[in-house]
Amino acid sequence: MSEHEKQVGKELYSKLREKMKDSFSGEDMAVIDKAFNVANEAHGNQLRKSGEPYIIHPIAVAEILFDELGMDMPSISAALLHDVVEDTNYTIEEISGLFGSEIALLVDGVTKINRMQISSKEEQQAENLRKMLIAMSKDIRVIIIKLADRVHNIRTLKYVPEQKRRLTAKETLEIYAPIAHRLGIRAFKEELEDLSISYLDPVAYADIEKRLAEQEPQRKEYLDDIKKKITERVHETVKDAKIDGRIKSVHGIYRKMYLHNKSFDEIYDIYAVRIIVDTVIDCYNCLGIVHDMYRSVPGRFKDYISTPKPNMYQSLHTTLIGKEGVPFEVQIRTWEMHRNAEYGIAAHWKYKLGRSDKDVDNRLVWIRQMLESQQESDNPQDIVQDIKSDLVPEEVFVLTPKGTVICLPAGSTVIDFAYAIHSAVGNKMTGAKVNGRIVPIDYVVQTGEIVEIITSSQQGKGPSRDWLNIVKTSGARTKIRSWFKKERRDENIAEGKQEFDKELRRNKIRLDDEKLQELLQTLTEKQHLNSIPDFYAAIGYGGITLSKLIPQIRDEASKLQTVETLSVPEINLKTEPTSSPDGVIVDGIDNCLVKLSKCCSPIPGDNIIGFITRGHGVSVHKRDCPNVPVDLASSPDSARWISVRWAKLPTAGFTASLTVTSLDRMSLIADITMALSNMRIMIHSMNTRTLKDSTALVYLNISVNSTEHLNSVVARLKKVDGVLDVTRANI
Ligand code: MN
Repeated sequence: MSEHEKQVGKELYSKLREKMKDSFSGEDMAVIDKAFNVANEAHGNQLRKSGEPYIIHPIAVAEILFDELGMDMPSISAALLHDVVEDTNYTIEEISGLFGSEIALLVDGVTKINRMQISSKEEQQAENLRKMLIAMSKDIRVIIIKLADRVHNIRTLKYVPEQKRRLTAKETLEIYAPIAHRLGIRAFKEELEDLSISYLDPVAYADIEKRLAEQEPQRKEYLDDIKKKITERVHETVKDAKIDGRIKSVHGIYRKMYLHNKSFDEIYDIYAVRIIVDTVIDCYNCLGIVHDMYRSVPGRFKDYISTPKPNMYQSLHTTLIGKEGVPFEVQIRTWEMHRNAEYGIAAHWKYKLGRSDKDVDNRLVWIRQMLESQQESDNPQDIVQDIKSDLVPEEVFVLTPKGTVICLPAGSTVIDFAYAIHSAVGNKMTGAKVNGRIVPIDYVVQTGEIVEIITSSQQGKGPSRDWLNIVKTSGARTKIRSWFKKERRDENIAEGKQEFDKELRRNKIRLDDEKLQELLQTLTEKQHLNSIPDFYAAIGYGGITLSKLIPQIRDEASKLQTVETLSVPEINLKTEPTSSPDGVIVDGIDNCLVKLSKCCSPIPGDNIIGFITRGHGVSVHKRDCPNVPVDLASSPDSARWISVRWAKLPTAGFTASLTVTSLDRMSLIADITMALSNMRIMIHSMNTRTLKDSTALVYLNISVNSTEHLNSVVARLKKVDGVLDVTRANI
């Protein structure tokens, strides 16, 4: 069964081979032959939608590349093999084994592009897709092969079902034709556009064709007349100028009619005369000549020689009025500009055949111009590589699972991607998958990867401050900062204060309260902030980078003239801000939300430490609370533990409850009272109980002003005769 298809393939290929054999060495032809044989065997009895043997398609793609662009051996071989990996049992490794890495890379590139689900929705999206496809082709020949593949597919699109046909035509018009344009391959661009329009808007297309056909005889006469007159005049001055007449492409007319609302008769450049000369000076000479012959349309002259189009197209354009007031466009260019206009990037291969490398280099002037700032290279492959990176500067294109292309600077991470989608996605992000696999949070995304962001719906989950050091884009950084700024003011103030104090200690700056407040006020004003807490908050969320501020801080501090060199780095700054209602001071921060934790109920005098919570200010624990890590520095949350202290209390002090266990004896109560009285301790209440075993318990409520004070009381009471133990009643 498959013998018939293979026979068709062989016959078709032998015709192509005839055309190619003089352009390639015997060695190269042997590779191309082998590529055909592998493809022919592999596709076997597969059929196209038209019912023809599948092998017709790869042969046609190879033929387009050879005939129209004169592409090289690896491109022709890869074209023959381009659907083998996608549609047959061959793997890319096998292709590499059979044909080497260069051809395998081309086949792999085309296969990857074919596997992409691309559907454009809007202009920006389409532009990103185009750039992504170019970037994905590690070798620009991948894109050229893909364009030829699309040219053949769209030529044979009528066999495809209606809906698929429209999708392909739309994708061609929005993605592939602009790529052909960008690469300057006019022949591909116009054919892709015209055929797409013929499928997308068949009525309008037929209408334009009909109008053009109706005018065919007059047009030919009109154009021939202009050509003759111009040729006569031009040849007086520029001997070997070549003059051509042509009609604008259907798509060009279509666009002017339907997108720019012009009537068919209003379109100036349906007729175009092209003058091709040897030198740039001749271009301007010819321009002078035609402007002398005809009246020109104001505002229609364009000098793309001195200012080339972005795809490096160069020409002089002008619109003139011919007989009976019919306008026509004149394009004037050199041969080199002409080749670049027709074949663009592919001119490199088209004109390489049968020429020396030096000639090739001369053809690459426009490429050189593109590479202005880059170093010159003698290797054409390098040059092509450079053009590619010039077309797509330092950007990567990554897809969402739904196929939207996100453009990011090279080096961006999954976090940048998340924030590029939406700040809400970034703020809820907990992880990411790339091509279905979980990746670390600092994973750097590559062009063509599909990235899925894992988010948490949990309230209060937010970005991590570490992300600020991971992200590449300023957009993501700004969004992370603004989250911290908005959501975590109390924590920002506490963290900022802590960081500021640490920085002062590190720089051995020591100031008394008053001077410190003065310093802070100055810094706050210099940062154009409203208050000292704002200043701390800005440090906390990363709006102010302290290390950059250090010279200024030193400066200001030295003006305050109390800079001392400290021998001990750990010295608490002496500030006495307002304490919380519980009497706890988070150093230097006024009005900070403070809560005494329920797990250990610290009381004044206890050694305490604060924990910066998410959303609930600072919670205060006893230092020996089981919930406080023993080694704070190495705990994962080390940055969130902050030093807090009890506010200095007025002389009245606070009440401590003590239980004294003693042998029951005479005058025990008197001795205890005496001891306390000697220490000037006020007794609020005292109760005693005698147990059966002759021990007495004395419950005391006394006033002390610190733990140390209390400890000294306990020590003194323990020395009272008969006393066995003194404990603090923990409620
Ligand atoms: Mn194909």
